[in-house]
Amino acid sequence: MSQTYDIAVIGGGPAGYVAAIRGAKEGKRVVLIEADHLGGTCLNRGCIPSKTLLHQAGILDQIRNAASWGIETGEVAFSLEKMLNRKNQVIATLRTGIAGLLKVGKIDLVQGFGEVKPDKSISVQAADGLRTVVKASSIILATGSTPSVPPIPGLAQVPYFTSDTIFDVEQVPKSIAILGGGFIGVEFACIFASLGSKVTVIEMADRLIPQEDKDAASILTKSLRKKGVTIGTGLKVTSISKGDTGIEIHAQDAKGNSEAIPADALLVAVGRKPNLSAIANLNIEKNGPFVQVNEYLETSIPGIYAAGDVIGGWQLAHVASAEGQAAAINAAGGKQKGNMKAVPRCIYTSPEISSVGLSEEEAKAQGYAVKTTIYSHAGNGKAMASDENSGFTKLIAEETYGEVLGVVMVGPHVTEMISTGTAFLSLEATVDDVANMIYPHPTVSESFMEAAAKWLGKGIHA
Ligand code: FAD
Repeated sequence: MSQTYDIAVIGGGPAGYVAAIRGAKEGKRVVLIEADHLGGTCLNRGCIPSKTLLHQAGILDQIRNAASWGIETGEVAFSLEKMLNRKNQVIATLRTGIAGLLKVGKIDLVQGFGEVKPDKSISVQAADGLRTVVKASSIILATGSTPSVPPIPGLAQVPYFTSDTIFDVEQVPKSIAILGGGFIGVEFACIFASLGSKVTVIEMADRLIPQEDKDAASILTKSLRKKGVTIGTGLKVTSISKGDTGIEIHAQDAKGNSEAIPADALLVAVGRKPNLSAIANLNIEKNGPFVQVNEYLETSIPGIYAAGDVIGGWQLAHVASAEGQAAAINAAGGKQKGNMKAVPRCIYTSPEISSVGLSEEEAKAQGYAVKTTIYSHAGNGKAMASDENSGFTKLIAEETYGEVLGVVMVGPHVTEMISTGTAFLSLEATVDDVANMIYPHPTVSESFMEAAAKWLGKGIHA
């Protein structure tokens, strides 16, 4: 069986399904090819299940803290099974929603594993082995990524989880070691610490979340330690073996000192690699391990576009969707550049961390003279009322005209508030603009005004 379309999208994650819908809105006949569930990593094994569990874990923590606020609750109990069931319900509902959107957009869904042939036809193999051939004028490759598993001696001989398998863990491990202190590792550290596991995070860099702001990393480190998490930074794992009761991780610090870290369970969260088997038959240019694209998201083969985790950069769902939309516009004959000037980045730990734009170091490296201010939330009324005032709001701005180049926030709901920071960058706001807006009181968002006013030397509370 063979069918012809204007656009064929391979991969139904945030890059692919959004590209398919956008392509249809541009008036094109679109097919979406997906080997597994709609929604990709983000919906099925990433953003949504982790945020559902983090929400539940946060409630457990709040109930445990409640006594210090005068609320007596007694012993707190939970059912992991019910928590995971709820997570599955959230996923199922959202998956159905995507299927509905495809239907409304008259997008054909072909379930199966797609492989692009040298003549640019796509051979799709369904789970039952049946093959379909799909032909399209343009192809959008949105095959995403999967967890990288490093070649550590002994790792293959012990049981371990990745983010693909941990969401269906059957019982809470007494102790868990997490390899990797990036955003995925620290979010799972929060979840398991709240569920009662003894958590150890092992990170090779000299601090947690090495891609993010160091002051934010330092607050996160303190907060995780307060939750009982052991943090080993600057540690290189040299081997892994079976221990007396579980697993033993052997690690070495920069000075060559070795230590053995025992754990009942192990989660490997050290990065993600692109899924490239769909293009195994093609000679597409790469950028390191990732698919190389130009500013219009087109690969080295004309008519084949790529978007999302498969092209590297910030491996985030909203980036994938923005790239997917741009790729679809271009595949439909338009000329849309991927605009990555103001990409918000969020970590949903306790406290939450969010940022957008340039760090002070990046701004300096780009030739800007910069001035940075930090407004501590210690004196913010709303943060104090919520008993979450350890965070801050940081503004990085160009020194002469005060254009805001970057924002970093740590504290309650900052993953929601960073969109205001994104607006500052997108609209090229200056610190004057930020300082002169009126913010509702009491809110943590007042910290934007305080940080900007402090930058101008006119702070009221700082
Ligand atoms: P994917 O979501 O990986 O989708 C690719 C799809 O392509 C998959 O469904 C796959 O089955 C399909 N596919 C692959 N090859 C083929 C083929 N040959 N034929 C047919 N189908 C194929 N990002 C955020 O922005 N916020 C978060 O809070 C967040 N949390 C995360 C938490 C975890 C634990 C993880 C692992 C990731 C998280 N991410 C988060 C990252 C986010 O999930 C990814 O950036 C996003 O899913 C990338 O989208 P994508 O469409 O490029 O790829």
